[in-house]
Amino acid sequence: MSEFTDCFPEISGNTVNGLGESNPRKPSPFFWHPPHRQTHGKLQKKVTDYHRQSPAIREEFSPTPPGGRGPKTIEQSPEVVDKDAAEWSDIVKHFALSNESDLVGITAMDPLYVYEGYEVNEPWVITIGVTMDYEELSQAPPSFDNPATAVVVAKEYNRAARACRYLANYILSQGYYAKAYQGPYASALNMLPAALASGFGELGKHGSIINRTYGSSIRLSAVTTDMPLIADQQDEFGADDYCTRCKACSNACPPGAIADEKQLVRGEMKWYVDFDKCIPYFGEALGCAICLSRCPWSRPGNATNILKSLAKRNAKKHD
Ligand code: SF4
Ligand code: SF4
Repeated sequence: MSEFTDCFPEISGNTVNGLGESNPRKPSPFFWHPPHRQTHGKLQKKVTDYHRQSPAIREEFSPTPPGGRGPKTIEQSPEVVDKDAAEWSDIVKHFALSNESDLVGITAMDPLYVYEGYEVNEPWVITIGVTMDYEELSQAPPSFDNPATAVVVAKEYNRAARACRYLANYILSQGYYAKAYQGPYASALNMLPAALASGFGELGKHGSIINRTYGSSIRLSAVTTDMPLIADQQDEFGADDYCTRCKACSNACPPGAIADEKQLVRGEMKWYVDFDKCIPYFGEALGCAICLSRCPWSRPGNATNILKSLAKRNAKKHD
């Protein structure tokens, strides 16, 4: 039995997450939220305190990590720069890609992206992705002797934080409202569905995004804004179908938290990771990430090969 098990509340994390619920609803604030706003705050504190016993992890998760967390928020300019939505969309994407982001996409705000009890009024979400170095990711699970994977995760959360803060400040300087959202501590915005809608990829069986170029080696941040923008399209390239035939993550997951069948979660059939099974191992293994590192899409160069094999398979189907 894990030392984290004692910190579980009576209610299952899967119940809080809406497993088995047939109606769509906003997600409940849960893990990576302030302890007083969620049911699992004590467990979260136990996990983060444990991880911070590693000096290397503690340094990256400190308020002043080596690379920094980005600039302070500036005042919104009273002068609004007038351009049309297509121009602004190009400009913000170019700005983000020139300022520490590896991926950027735009989607219209959906109330279901906002956690229960929070309010977000901006009509647009700009999602940002940064990639994690595979050499370090592939050393998962991290340990106190070799925390490389946990350190790269923290380091890239910091880069994603800088990227969204640079972008938010740029938008504010153009006279529009903007708010930056950086991980790992989520606030109002559930970034994952927004990133899927903005073209980052498909949801994988391991509960994270599969991107057509970087696989599962990405971390997210976001900016919400009232700047006029144009939404991107969702990117569907066969990853969901691939997951139905692949078991690399579910077989590799030590506590068996990854289900091989989709499940009903808040009105949607989707891949789902059992929180109650995952988190004790995630806690002990300093953030684990085995599932991300074993995903064949994450191995550099392999995504292109998988896309080619999916294209061949599709071509045969239609012969
Ligand atoms: S993080 Fe680790 S324990 Fe959790 S689902 Fe992934 S492989 Fe399993
Ligand atoms: S390891 Fe396989 S099943 Fe798991 S998310 Fe990646 S492609 Fe899907």
